[in-house]
Formats: sequence, C-alpha cells, structure tokens
Amino acid sequence: MFYDLHIHSGLSPCANDDMSPNNIAGMAMLKGLQLIAVTDHNSLKQQRVMAAAAKQYGLSYVYGVEVQTLEEVHVLAYFKQLNDAEQFQSWLAQRLLPIKNDVQYFGHQYLFDLEDQVIGNEEVLLLQSVMADIDETMMAIHEHHGLAVLAHVLDRSNSITTQLGFIPETLQFDGIEIKHPTDYQRVMAMHPWISSQVFWLCDSDAHQLVDISEAEHAVDLEVLEAVWRKYL
Ligand SMILES: [Zn+2]
Ligand SMILES: [Zn+2]
Repeated sequence: MFYDLHIHSGLSPCANDDMSPNNIAGMAMLKGLQLIAVTDHNSLKQQRVMAAAAKQYGLSYVYGVEVQTLEEVHVLAYFKQLNDAEQFQSWLAQRLLPIKNDVQYFGHQYLFDLEDQVIGNEEVLLLQSVMADIDETMMAIHEHHGLAVLAHVLDRSNSITTQLGFIPETLQFDGIEIKHPTDYQRVMAMHPWISSQVFWLCDSDAHQLVDISEAEHAVDLEVLEAVWRKYL
C-alpha cells in the first residue's frame, strides 16, 4: 500500500490553513496513496473527522499524532482504534501546560468538520513539550495499544539524534522514520544493534498540500498489524 503516515492538518499551527480533511484526503487520492495518517502536534482532536474524510475518498486511515517529549524529541504514535486514540488524547491534554496559542506568532489551530468548515480553534499552544520524557511517552503509547515511531531521525531539529545525539539501546520504539530510503544505511551504521523487527517509514511531514507524498513508498499493512498485536 502506498502511504504517507506523517501529514499535518490545519490544527497544527505551523501547517497551512487549507490543510482541511477533504483537501488532504483528496490530494492523497490524486497522488495515488492508499493509506494515510494525519499526525498533528500533540493533539488528536482532528482524528475522528479526518478518518471519515479519508474513508470518503477510499483511503485506509490510521489514527496518529506527533508528540513532542520533554527532551523536545518528536515521536509519532499510531492507533488502530478510535477509542485508544481518544484515550491517548486525554493523556496528552493532561500533560500540556496551559499556554495560550499566539495566533499571530504561531498560526491558527483550526478544527474542521467533515464539510471542511472551521468549527473551532484549539486555544492551548500545541507547539510545546508534553510533561513526559521519551521513555514515559513510549510507555503511554504502548499502554494505549499504539505504535511508537521515532520521527525524522536524521533531521536537524526535534529529532532524537539532534536532541540526545543517538538512539539509546534501551528505548522501546517500534519504528523509525527517515526522509529517504538511503538514510537507512546511515542510521544502521550509527546503531548496528537495531533489530530487524523495527519497521521503517518514509513520510512527507507535509505542512502544505503539494508536499504530500507521491505514490513511491509502500508498506505492508500486515507488518504493522503484526507489531500492533504485541500491544493488544
Ligand atoms: Zn516533527
Ligand atoms: Zn511533523
């Protein structure tokens, strides 16, 4: 299945305001994708509508979020069941500081309905670290039957390699996200202990519609399902 499992909607302040559910799902379909996940910063409040929009366009959908840990490391979390995603949303909301979003500075945090109408604004700033370190975050993701993926591991900001310098061997992650397939060798050269059980993703991290991936990276849903089963 051609996928893009790291897309930001207009709920993320840094994403374009036209990143609405139908625009995202429509663009993904035009690009030939079959499986998508929207992963907003520290919030799953757009997930229910986003999944419904994806379904309308004939796409498979995985519930997702991009968590920023206390170390400012970005970790992607994926859930199969809406109930788990919503429970994890409660976990997250309890760990965000009540800092108000400055719209002028960070941008809007729009919530859309299934007609792409803006029906709300998230008031709490989503571009902040949750009050949980990376180990606690991984544990919480797994307790909610989710998969934990280290986001954009070789990026220059908010990746595990910029924040910690390396991937600790004790970290309980399920997947690693890289920008290009060739980055696999670089990561493995630094961390030869990484198990073959870990899955690798190449996503767009799109903040605007044009950046959503073309149909070039494929994943076998069975592989993800097999990992998921570990946490059920
Ligand atoms: Zn990120
Ligand atoms: Zn992102």
